[in-house]
Order: sequence, then structure tokens, then C-alpha cells
Amino acid sequence: MRVPLGQVADMAAYIAKNKLRPKPEWQRNLAADDSANPFKIIHTQIPSARAGRKPHPMINKRFPLVMMLEPLHACNLTCTSCGRIREYESTVRERLTLEQCLRAVDECGAPLVSICGGEPLLYPEIGPLAAAILQRGKYIQLCTNGMFIAKKLKEFKPDNAFVFNVHLDGMEKNHDLAVERPGVFREAIEGVKAAKAAGFKVFSNTTVYKETDMREIEELFEYLAQFKVDGHTIAPAYGYSAVNDREIFLTREDVHEKFKSIDKLSKKYPIVASPVYMEFLKGERDLPCTAWGNPTYNVKGWKGPCYLITDAHYDTFEELMTRTPWENYGAGNDPRCADCMVHCGYEPSAAYGINSKFSDPFKSLAWLLS
Ligand code: SF4
Repeated sequence: MRVPLGQVADMAAYIAKNKLRPKPEWQRNLAADDSANPFKIIHTQIPSARAGRKPHPMINKRFPLVMMLEPLHACNLTCTSCGRIREYESTVRERLTLEQCLRAVDECGAPLVSICGGEPLLYPEIGPLAAAILQRGKYIQLCTNGMFIAKKLKEFKPDNAFVFNVHLDGMEKNHDLAVERPGVFREAIEGVKAAKAAGFKVFSNTTVYKETDMREIEELFEYLAQFKVDGHTIAPAYGYSAVNDREIFLTREDVHEKFKSIDKLSKKYPIVASPVYMEFLKGERDLPCTAWGNPTYNVKGWKGPCYLITDAHYDTFEELMTRTPWENYGAGNDPRCADCMVHCGYEPSAAYGINSKFSDPFKSLAWLLS
């Protein structure tokens, strides 16, 4: 089973609650009043609305699903593709307090918290932070370069709701090139082994670049199988504001080409990307923007509109949800979104019902339980 039954049930209940009783303040469109986004072109990404039909009342409800919590942006590495160390260079020495992190988690209410950064294992109160989030009945993915896992392991307790998500962009030579330091792959693998030996759940976290050979990704998954890694997250590296000045990033067409054989990989290895998301990656249908689905909180506040683009930082989650002109974003609405393949980490189509097909929930359920 790719995702534990309890987690599937919790997420399904949360999604149903938010679709049946959506918070009205979060559903308003602010297009007429938009001054934050100078790139706006048109105001809808919902095909039925474009065609002049009213969308079904259950679809396109805005609510958070996966919160991206960045307690700090400091990192021991300077990975080639990292936007954070560039965009937040001026505040890289700052960090959130434990209280600020927990207040944000409570304010947002998303059932899954992705603790990222920076390198979150450099956060001095990472153990108490994870414990307090788990105590709130939430799920955690801790995204790390893996180098400090072995050293920090004693600060955590194994929990079905907690996953170490370890960055590995290829086998040793290419991963070390991507993170710009020799030896990182080996240390990350030591971290994976230590975490698995201590009873923790571990995923690998891979980004696919223009030069990535998908056969190497298969080799990586095969190599990781010996350590009984629980899942693989994999995503394309698309250009966005903080990083798109370089040639390593994929256009939408490149993404479709790279991922055309992803089904074969997914049958062989526990890839944690649903078949519906894979259809987006393969270009079989348009990926909608669900920026509100994974709100990001960091030292500057709530980052709007999304993890990638920064047009504003808000003090409160409520302000992010009510003051962002969501309808101005997404491919076709904003040129900066043209190559975006962001998904909310769970299942945007089934969860939000945008560009969805009748069969999606069944397909997703079968996959989750496979
Ligand atoms: S970059 Fe992606 S997630 Fe962000 S607003 Fe654009 S389409 Fe949405």
C-alpha cells in the first residue's frame, strides 16, 4: 500500500469537509482589484467557465492541503537548482521561532505539513517541532539533503505519520554534481540506512533536469530498493522566477518527453505520484494551478501566491487566502506560470476537481491502496 489506509481516510474526510462546507471568504475572486500581479492576462483557468458554463459547485474550492513550512533558509549546501538560497539571501541567517511555526500550522489547518527550507535538520528545535505537529494529528514529510539524519535521529521517534524525504537527484556522480559537493550522496545514503535501521519511514526525493537520463533514475530506485525505501517522490525541474535564468530547467514540452515512460517506472517501484498527476506530467491533460493547495510559510510570512512565485508576503494565513488574486495565476493567465508543474503533493485533480474526470477518484483510490 503506497499510502497507509488511515492517512487516506483522514485526507479524504478533510477534503470532503472542505468541499461540502467551503469557507466563503476563501472562494472570492479579486481580479478587478488586482495590482500585485503586473503579468495578468485573463481570469480563468477552469475550462467549463471559459466555455461559458457554470462549474459544478463542488469543484474549484480553495482550501490548503499540504503546508510548506520553512523554519529557516540556511543550508550546508548550495544546490544548483535551489531558488531559496537565492531569493532569501538577505534573510538566510534568520529563522522562525518554534511558537511561530506552530501558530502557522494551526492557522493553516492543512493535514499534511512538509517541513523544508533550507535544511530543516539545521533548525535547532526540529525534534520538538516535529513532535508538536504530530501531536496535532497531522502528517509530516521532512525534506532533507540527508547529511545530518544519522546525527539527529535521536531527536525523533518513528511514527507512521512521519517521513524523512531525502533529496537524491541521481547516482553518486550526478547527485554530487547537482548539489555541488563531492561526498553528499554517500552521506545521504548513510542517513537513509540509519533511519531505516531505526524504524523510520523514508522516501527519496528526486528532481528531473534537462540533462537527467531517466535510465539513471531507474538505476537509483533499484539501488535504493536494497535499503527498503518506502517511496519515491519525483518531480520535473521547471523554470520559475527565482531560478529560470539557467538552462537546466524543463519547459512543459520537455517534461512531457521526460515523463512519457513514467508508468513503467511506477509499476516497478513505489513512486509517490498518483496516476492522475502522471497524466499531467505526460501531457495527457492540462495541469491546473492549485497554488492555495500548498501554502508556504517562512521568515517573511505567508508567501503569495505560491511556493515558486513571490508577489507578496502576508502576516496571516487569512490574508494570504483572501488577498491573493488566485484567478490571475496559472498557465494561460500569467507567463511566469507557463512551465509550472507544481502539484499539491497529494492529488490536485481529485482533491480540487479541476480538469477532473469521473474516473479520477477511483483511479486515485486504487493507486493509493496498491
Ligand atoms: S507558478 Fe504554478 S503554482 Fe504558482 S501560481 Fe503559477 S501555476 Fe500556480
